[in-house]
Amino acid sequence: MLDTRELGRRPGSQREVARQVPAPAELGIEVLHVPEGSPVDIDLRLEAVMEGVLVTGDATARLEGECVRCLEPVRDQIEVPFQELYVYDDRTPADDDGLDDEVRRLEDDLLDLEPVLRDAVVLALPFQPLCEDDCPGLCTECGAQLADDPDHAHDAPIDPRWAGLAALQEAQDQQDD
Ligand SMILES: [Zn+2]
Ligand SMILES: [Zn+2]
Repeated sequence: MLDTRELGRRPGSQREVARQVPAPAELGIEVLHVPEGSPVDIDLRLEAVMEGVLVTGDATARLEGECVRCLEPVRDQIEVPFQELYVYDDRTPADDDGLDDEVRRLEDDLLDLEPVLRDAVVLALPFQPLCEDDCPGLCTECGAQLADDPDHAHDAPIDPRWAGLAALQEAQDQQDD
């Protein structure tokens, strides 16, 4: 929550705010998220406009997740820009002039940045995080890390459907001896 009282309500008045907040829980997506409680740096410009307070800024946060190809941990940093208008909560509906229910409102001159931060971060996250852009992933045969062993190869891929037969054949060969 950010107090906007110091800003005043004269349209055009501005205030810069920089602060660090702990990341809220479940900020991000399943494969990539901002660790709960990790520091999120926020730089903001608050600007009083006729209807309320226009907030423009960016947030920098740490990311943790898993590479979708090789499942190795991914650590990264993200910087997301955002802009949002918070309408004064004492404006009556008649003043709203077509502003719909989805508009964000100031509550007692406080603005809640968390939903805006959430939307901005989730929008900016890659849906398929990779440890490296060209991560070769895992061997489809044995699951080995191809990055550790780029020349990795299997001479004769064993089709699992034949593995049982091969074992049977081996047993038979042994009996014949
Ligand atoms: Zn990877
Ligand atoms: Zn392999």
